[in-house]
Amino acid sequence: MKTETKSTAKKSSTATKSKSTADSKSTASKSTGSKTTASKSSSSSKAGKVKAKSTAAEGLRELYMDSLKDIYWAEKALLKALPKMAKNATTESLIMAIDEHTAVTEEQVARLEKVFELAGKKATAKKCEAMDGLIKEAQDIMESTEPGPVRDAGIIAASQKVEHYEIATYGTLCAFAKTLGEDEAAQLLEATLNEEKQADMTLTEAAYNNINFEATEADDEE
Ligand code: FE
Ligand code: ZN
Ligand code: FE
Ligand code: FE
Repeated sequence: MKTETKSTAKKSSTATKSKSTADSKSTASKSTGSKTTASKSSSSSKAGKVKAKSTAAEGLRELYMDSLKDIYWAEKALLKALPKMAKNATTESLIMAIDEHTAVTEEQVARLEKVFELAGKKATAKKCEAMDGLIKEAQDIMESTEPGPVRDAGIIAASQKVEHYEIATYGTLCAFAKTLGEDEAAQLLEATLNEEKQADMTLTEAAYNNINFEATEADDEE
């Protein structure tokens, strides 16, 4: 957490320094200078959609945008899923942790919209199969456990998988943004990355330590 990858920011040598939104609007015609359109694929005319993949920088930018759409969908899905998890939890500190992270998630959605804006694009969501699966797993756990410490433990397990997925995603997005010369976007993405790490720690330290497993021990003697 303390190590910051400052070096990657400097690597954006070929990325166009003009931060104007025009840069991303004209994806087809823009040439980044050094590399010519040698590897332009001829299959790009399919369905009239022309997508130039002539340079590595353009390919990375496309990957970056796809990943942004993916996590935008994921965050919005979490805005619906987190309150359900809080409702099914019983440990006070866990409920508080989830409620707080729901509020934080709302800010993260807004932050992503800003990142899209910085890239000159409209915020679009594309279904994230991974997050969809993680949320389904959380639902399965809640359905298969009794309310109480065990379900709480299951909710923590499920939400930590969610946080780890987000940490991986924002870590990658942050590195992509830096490489692409999107410094302002990188800062926003890093802010979210730190919030996800914080949420993960809160779930581990605060919530888990407070679950009272002893309380149900007697009930389990059937
Ligand atoms: Fe998030
Ligand atoms: Zn995803
Ligand atoms: Fe995904
Ligand atoms: Fe999160």
